[in-house]
Amino acid sequence: MILVSACLIGINCKYNGGNNYNLQVAELVRQGKAIPICPEQLGGLPTPRLPAEIKGGSARDVLEGTAAVVRMDGVDVTSSYVKGALEVLKLCKDVGIELAILKARSPSCGKGGVYDGTFSGRLVDGDGITAHVLMENGIRVITEYELTILDKGGGKLL
Ligand code: SF4
Repeated sequence: MILVSACLIGINCKYNGGNNYNLQVAELVRQGKAIPICPEQLGGLPTPRLPAEIKGGSARDVLEGTAAVVRMDGVDVTSSYVKGALEVLKLCKDVGIELAILKARSPSCGKGGVYDGTFSGRLVDGDGITAHVLMENGIRVITEYELTILDKGGGKLL
């Protein structure tokens, strides 16, 4: 079974109340091959909500308490992001998830690049909190962009 970011299948769980619909990802759910989750909602955050970014380090640093996830208005929302990540990990273990297709650049779901904490649109190398936790626990994570590349190349998902 595959896990996917809920916003990728058109669920309006994005911070601004919208979504990031992706036809390929939605098709996987329609075929019964994937289930959608939103770590930020699972962490107890409302929708819509103010955007947040990882500030002062990496996802690992956030988990070790030396960096934080901070909202645009300066409020520290680290605990909600960590809670959401751990809830998703629990679900992955319960369901036997081997692969997660997560939304690129999100402070929760991003993989390989996230915003730098200045809300200026600048990207830095790094992962979102949930993506990091899943990879640390042996779950393969790809973004929706990697899914497109895999698809075009005829690559296997599982
Ligand atoms: S936390 Fe992940 S699933 Fe939820 S809106 Fe953000 S990118 Fe989408």
